[in-house]
Amino acid sequence: MFKLNTLHQLHDDIAARVKTISDDNQDWLCRIGCDGCCRRLAEIPRLTIEEWQWLKIGLAALPSDQLEDIKLDISALAEQTSRPIICPMLNQTEGACRVYEHRPVACRTYGFYVQRELGLYCKDIEALVDQGAYSEVVWGNHDTIDRRLSGLGETRDLTEWFADSFNPSK
Ligand code: SF4
Ligand code: SF4
Repeated sequence: MFKLNTLHQLHDDIAARVKTISDDNQDWLCRIGCDGCCRRLAEIPRLTIEEWQWLKIGLAALPSDQLEDIKLDISALAEQTSRPIICPMLNQTEGACRVYEHRPVACRTYGFYVQRELGLYCKDIEALVDQGAYSEVVWGNHDTIDRRLSGLGETRDLTEWFADSFNPSK
């Protein structure tokens, strides 16, 4: 059973945290056109089945030529061994996400949430924090997000989900 409401509740909770931080810090780095995080993925994104089902709706709604481009990039990604990687859903010309409303949870938390052992994820923001900026920020807790994600079903690599759903031979 597709528990869409559960995923959307998670989206809403993250959006509320992001809005609070953004409203309190008008100079926050994350903005349209800042795509460093989408160009520096440490690994192929891993998604729960609920995230994949939501993302798949966004992919299927794209113009066919864009979906074909993404299909080629994801196929290449499955073979790529070097890291970091550029997200295949990124419009590299505009620095914008082509599936923004349907993007995975990690894309929503990036820059605003931290994990106790790992610190901040975005190196650009981390550099400002190291210089003393954003000392009043109440960061989101990524451990909580991970616990909630673990309740959203099977987790697989983006390339695996994609091959199952969009490979014409299946
Ligand atoms: S997380 Fe970092 S790279 Fe990504 S949009 Fe925010 S400031 Fe830019
Ligand atoms: S899905 Fe969108 S927001 Fe997430 S890494 Fe890819 S381009 Fe960036």
